[in-house]
Amino acid sequence: MSPLGSAPAPHRRPSEEGRHSAVRIRPGFGSQPRYHQRQPNMELDWQVCSRARLTRDARFDGKFFIGVFTSGVYCRSICPAPHAKEKNVRYFPTAAAAAEAGFRPCLRCRPECSPGTPAWLGTPSTVSRALRLISESGLEEGGVEALAGRVGIGSRHLRRLFLQHLGATPSAVAKTRQMHFAKNLIDETNLRMSDVALASGFGCVRRFNAGILKVYHRTPTQIRRLARQRTLQPENHYLFRLRFRPPFDWQGMLAFLAPRATPGVEEVVSGVYRRTISWDGTDGCFEVSLDEGSNVLVVRLQFGDPRSLFFITERIRAMFDLNADWAAIVQHLRADPVLVTQVDSAPGLRVPGCWNGFELATRAILGQQITVKGATVLAGRLVNNFGKPFTAGDGLTHLFPTPAVLADAKLTRIGLTGARAETIRALARAVRDGRISFEGVVDFETLLNRLCEIPGIGQWTAQYVAMRALGEPDAFPSGDVGLLRAMGLGNSRELEHHAEAWRPWRAYAAMYLWRMASQSTEPGNTGPSRTQETIGRPIPDRRIPLFV
Ligand SMILES: [Zn+2]
Repeated sequence: MSPLGSAPAPHRRPSEEGRHSAVRIRPGFGSQPRYHQRQPNMELDWQVCSRARLTRDARFDGKFFIGVFTSGVYCRSICPAPHAKEKNVRYFPTAAAAAEAGFRPCLRCRPECSPGTPAWLGTPSTVSRALRLISESGLEEGGVEALAGRVGIGSRHLRRLFLQHLGATPSAVAKTRQMHFAKNLIDETNLRMSDVALASGFGCVRRFNAGILKVYHRTPTQIRRLARQRTLQPENHYLFRLRFRPPFDWQGMLAFLAPRATPGVEEVVSGVYRRTISWDGTDGCFEVSLDEGSNVLVVRLQFGDPRSLFFITERIRAMFDLNADWAAIVQHLRADPVLVTQVDSAPGLRVPGCWNGFELATRAILGQQITVKGATVLAGRLVNNFGKPFTAGDGLTHLFPTPAVLADAKLTRIGLTGARAETIRALARAVRDGRISFEGVVDFETLLNRLCEIPGIGQWTAQYVAMRALGEPDAFPSGDVGLLRAMGLGNSRELEHHAEAWRPWRAYAAMYLWRMASQSTEPGNTGPSRTQETIGRPIPDRRIPLFV
């Protein structure tokens, strides 16, 4: 249910350029925009929007946008420009909706920098899945028709759903994201404009120049000249600042990732997460840290192919759960007396995603029935034996092995049992042959079933992988021993029954329960503890052959 609603919008054409647009329309460039009168069907609560706008509330950043009639621009809720009068604004659920209505992005608050759309905020799963597909691969060949086909409905229906819930069509959403990313690259990198055009999917420089000029009323070169605080990066190094809606429990995120970091591939050191990556045949690495006080994660990326930048940053956004809408999640979880203290003591705990679904699933299999620490040792051996060497220095030495390599690997030599080794090989073959894919997944249940068809993968592993690889906020490994212990329950059926009240945010509840289990295991322990070894362990899947 969306807590936001649509404002009864005064429909006026702008009479003047506003103070914070600072944009002059060039003679002959075009006429003043005509704002579309179409009012989306969404139930936006204008009072909530208005309050958030007037208090510049960062918790609402990216949850709605403000079209200002007097300036013709659209803004984030946190825009530092003086407030327009209520009668002169109209609220939109997405930037694309504001753009569709004829507003231009504000050059001051830079809507392209806002945290992503909280996809699960009162939208049906079809819309959420389509949004996920757009961020994973853009609107591929075939456009909206193909996208609709993939989520299993007709294109007209998909268009209607998008208009109803996001206020814009799928192609407008994709176009706005592309435009925003191009603007970010112009502002924050030294990439040549031809590379920016490629990286943001414009295809050719001419189309890119025309597109930017149309939306921003400035050429890409003029925009770059104006960019503030641009730090020069060496070639193939990029710095991105990814916004989130506070609160964000960064320490909680690192506390989860650190003990699970695969030696050589990833590490957590002094508040920074780092890892190696491979994308479309190019290798690289990135590191992520928190910029306290700015609601920003700072990403330093080293990567040789600018065409992949958009999808890499989208993947990192998903990995750190930056689109989460804490306000909606907390409402659900605080209603449970078991969770309320946890939620209040560590607000903003996110569900850590992953860089690569195959890597995560392999890691989850390694972790079946052993401690997190033991699984991390095995993962290190796996990488050392089968990973591709990588020379970024600073402790990152390998890329995680590919499915093709692990499909026939002699895994018993790193200390796995024959059965566990075969499970990993079977997973690797399924991914290599395209029978299982973690990208472009539209059906959560199908992925669960496919995973469970592999001997040695049961519900725990499958749910855990779905929770972290698909960003499925309602995924819930109800057979997990840590979760059962935290709730004081004896079996997964009782836990599932209790968890009904947490829907559709059961994954977040799981994160809090693991945190709770860790605290009750070793109260007051500040060092590496059994905590981190016991959370996230399954009770034995019935289909997993037990071994001693
Ligand atoms: Zn603004």
